[in-house]
Amino acid sequence: MTIDTRKLLEIDRNTVFHASTHLKQYAHGEMGGRIITSAQGIRIQDSEGIELVDAFAGLYCVNIGYGRTEMAEAIYEQAKKLAYYHTYVGHTNEALIELSDRIIKMAPAGMSKVYYGMSGSDANETQLKLVWYYNNVLGRPEKKKIISRDRGYHGSSIASGSMTGLPLFHAHFDLPLDRIKHTLAPVYYRRPDDNMSEVEFSRYCAAKLEDMILAEGTDTVAAMIGEPVLGTGGIVPPPQGYWTEIRKVLDKYDILLIADEVVCGFGRLGSDFGSIHYDMKPDLMTIAKGLTSAYQPLSGVIVGDRVWKVLEQGTDEWGAIGHGYTYSGHPMGAAAALCNLDIIARENLTANARDTGAYLQQRMQETFAEHPLVGETRGVGLLHALEFSSNKGKREHFDPALKVGPQIAAACLEQGLIARAMPHGDILGFAPPLVVTRNDIDDIVERTAKAVNRVTDKLISSGDWKG
Ligand SMILES: *Cc1c(COP(=O)(O)O)cnc(C)c1O
Repeated sequence: MTIDTRKLLEIDRNTVFHASTHLKQYAHGEMGGRIITSAQGIRIQDSEGIELVDAFAGLYCVNIGYGRTEMAEAIYEQAKKLAYYHTYVGHTNEALIELSDRIIKMAPAGMSKVYYGMSGSDANETQLKLVWYYNNVLGRPEKKKIISRDRGYHGSSIASGSMTGLPLFHAHFDLPLDRIKHTLAPVYYRRPDDNMSEVEFSRYCAAKLEDMILAEGTDTVAAMIGEPVLGTGGIVPPPQGYWTEIRKVLDKYDILLIADEVVCGFGRLGSDFGSIHYDMKPDLMTIAKGLTSAYQPLSGVIVGDRVWKVLEQGTDEWGAIGHGYTYSGHPMGAAAALCNLDIIARENLTANARDTGAYLQQRMQETFAEHPLVGETRGVGLLHALEFSSNKGKREHFDPALKVGPQIAAACLEQGLIARAMPHGDILGFAPPLVVTRNDIDDIVERTAKAVNRVTDKLISSGDWKG
């Protein structure tokens, strides 16, 4: 390590509170740090000159790839013209108007307005407030519970962290909130009966949801939230027919559906939105990450007609809505989003996610389906996961203490590749920028294979696994 890097990291350890980090180990220098200094395309560089292929697009957000001068210019031009003005009481800006019109035109039918925030978490926080307000307007003060799913990911604020269905985000924070419940995750790999077909498993999930609604009281459940494809919970596409079965149950009890499109939106699955891909017919949608490819922080809540009409009625009764962030509709975020959407359209990145995504799925399948360490390979578009198993046939888990997932992610890093050890189980996730090429995919698969084989050999030679 150079003297400069060491010095800067020392200041960092003394002053920065890092997200998702073992605070003590990091602050005391017992684990490494890395200073990212520049990035281009699908590659990032650190202060030691090490180049890494980023097969996770940051946190599945840098969809157009790094280092786009055009984005920098769009943000700069907007900053010179109008860096900020608020959007309270009818104030607006040109970038925001154009962006909102484009989003509504892209969104599935029946979407009406976009409310803006800065993060996926704050957008899901807004979702909850809107759903509660909606039922207050309708005179149903008891209808307030939200059903999310185990292994869902919706953020890490109080309400969005409650909707997240991962124990790590609840334990020791006094979460989840009482009104937020979790139903079965649609993970076909973990189906209760080997003989169940995907469609049968989808019906089984819908039946579990209905059981929960009945047990909680049909008049108390306001909305369900779900990612079209489970993301941080393990990158799991829904089993066949899942969203249709779920929508039927929700309709039966007048329950709203919130599609959390933070990962799936704007091309990642090879379609504009996961809601369109799986015909979810949501009432509300959450967007963030791919909206700006993370060049600026920007998120949104897309409100459908059905909810919008009731919100209007509420303001008729009670006056202006009591919800707003200083940075709602920030012009620099909007300018970045517009330029990002231009690039996605001009370079056909959604089609690339479909085509090169299909190639990624195929190459992963060919390389790992028969591998003794790999229990399942799964994915859609430019999302993919390898799930590792100690007994492939029986789909058994490794002892979590062995940290097989993190070991493989670390072995990937040694091969110059960033793939993400997902926080739940031994799962390695891939979500490269949408500009990835077939050659890049070959390279990613090759590096991954080396890493997986290295850890396989290590597990066997150490006696931790019989193979
Ligand atoms: C990342 C993510 C969020 C939270 O977004 P933040 O910007 O980190 O607050 C919400 N939902 C999904 C599906 C996500 O992947």
